[in-house]
Amino acid sequence: MRHLLDLSKDELSAWLAEHGEPRYRAPQIARWALQRGVTDFEAMTDLPAPLRATLASEFTLAPLPALATRIADNGDTTKVLLDLDGNGQAVEAVRMAYDPDEDGVPDRTTVCVSTQVGCAMACAFCATGQQGFTRNLRPSEILAQILHFTRERRVTNVVFMGMGEPLANYAATLRAVRWMVDPDGLDMRQRGITISTVGVVSGIRRLATEGLQVGLTISLHAPDDELRRRLIPTSGGTTIDDLIEAAREYTETRGRRVTFAYALLEHVNDEPEQARRLAQRLRGLQAHVNLIPYNPTAGAGLRRPSRERVRAFQRELQAAGINATVRVERGQEIAAACGQLRTDVLGKPKNDEATSQAASIEWHG
Ligand code: SAH
Repeated sequence: MRHLLDLSKDELSAWLAEHGEPRYRAPQIARWALQRGVTDFEAMTDLPAPLRATLASEFTLAPLPALATRIADNGDTTKVLLDLDGNGQAVEAVRMAYDPDEDGVPDRTTVCVSTQVGCAMACAFCATGQQGFTRNLRPSEILAQILHFTRERRVTNVVFMGMGEPLANYAATLRAVRWMVDPDGLDMRQRGITISTVGVVSGIRRLATEGLQVGLTISLHAPDDELRRRLIPTSGGTTIDDLIEAAREYTETRGRRVTFAYALLEHVNDEPEQARRLAQRLRGLQAHVNLIPYNPTAGAGLRRPSRERVRAFQRELQAAGINATVRVERGQEIAAACGQLRTDVLGKPKNDEATSQAASIEWHG
């Protein structure tokens, strides 16, 4: 059965029109489903009973059951593993009582969502990247991750930094975003939403045309293409110059500064000289660099740099006039890094080839 939240608002309106219902029914239903988190059409008490019955016969509003929940940081960080089809497929979502990146919204609560089961990008340092790709999430499955938390308390920010590559699941990601910012949907600030991408240039260009004010983070991780290709083996023909150009365009059309994410890996990409080269490349761009000290994942054969090395890298960037912050760390003890909870609870997926490949790369000569 179709999930109601896989429909766009226009599709929902069209369905209602076909069933002879007035226009205002779509906002009414959306508010029940998204603002009140109702999962049963019978609870929509201001709809006529026959409409409730027809909706229930064609659509579901079922939530995703939680397979595991872990709480850390005195309750400030909650990570949940949500079951998709009851056949061992699951995705992670994390709620943090803070915003990992920017923007001063008081009392902010950020939810980090997944867009795919697994990921095809194969980033060498990422637990999800090493699981391989299983499937895209549907819009309702992306929204269900937020609804899981909004049923408890208000969510102000959403970051697409969970499992998967959002711009490789573009249609579902955008559909979910539209419901997030819709005044009859989750009614979130557009600026409170951040899409993080491994660097899908066509997706970045397309996103710039959507008329949205959502934030964009591009995962860069290296100052040169040779190293970037080792860290992101699927980055193929996309160069750092291509990404800088796409970021410039995004900033010009959307008026929003782009953030570059940079996972810091000891003696791989964290040398002061690499910081200087990175700064050189980003000069002139209204960029912000978010440094993420590597969160160790099983089998990657990489190390997290010391606090001193992280600071030194940050100082080099700042000295060169590049705005750089270090990602505040939460949820270490609950394996909050991408893909880790899934691996802990469900075990390693079959795709062991990718894992052993990543593990066998010689990082430290
Ligand atoms: N596919 C998106 C979202 C990935 S997760 C993207 O590539 O941007 C969000 C960020 O966490 C990305 O920048 C990703 O590279 C980074 N990341 C993944 N695993 C990590 C780890 N073990 N340590 C540090 N950063 C990691």
